[in-house]
Amino acid sequence: MVKCPKCGTDVQPTKTWQLVSPLPDVDGRISITVMGSFRCPSCGYSWRGKVSVMKVGPNGEVEFQTGKARRRRRKKEERKEEPRGGTIIEIDLSEIEEDEL
Ligand SMILES: [Zn+2]
Repeated sequence: MVKCPKCGTDVQPTKTWQLVSPLPDVDGRISITVMGSFRCPSCGYSWRGKVSVMKVGPNGEVEFQTGKARRRRRKKEERKEEPRGGTIIEIDLSEIEEDEL
């Protein structure tokens, strides 16, 4: 069951669909994420979110993850873009034009 982020009411998904991750995880399992669209009957807020995650192993074993049972570690690597501008090559356009002539 998913709770409304606005008022905390338990909300059933009005529609669900599955997202299959094409790449297996470390254990060779493929995760199938069940997504749902929700509409809170209490406050009318609607949103989309994860309903549950199913993991299917290479031998057919299935593991369910629902709600907050297990949180995946977010990737720590935040891609920080290096500030570019360390090397600025200035080209004197007038010189080039002269060479081409
Ligand atoms: Zn609500």
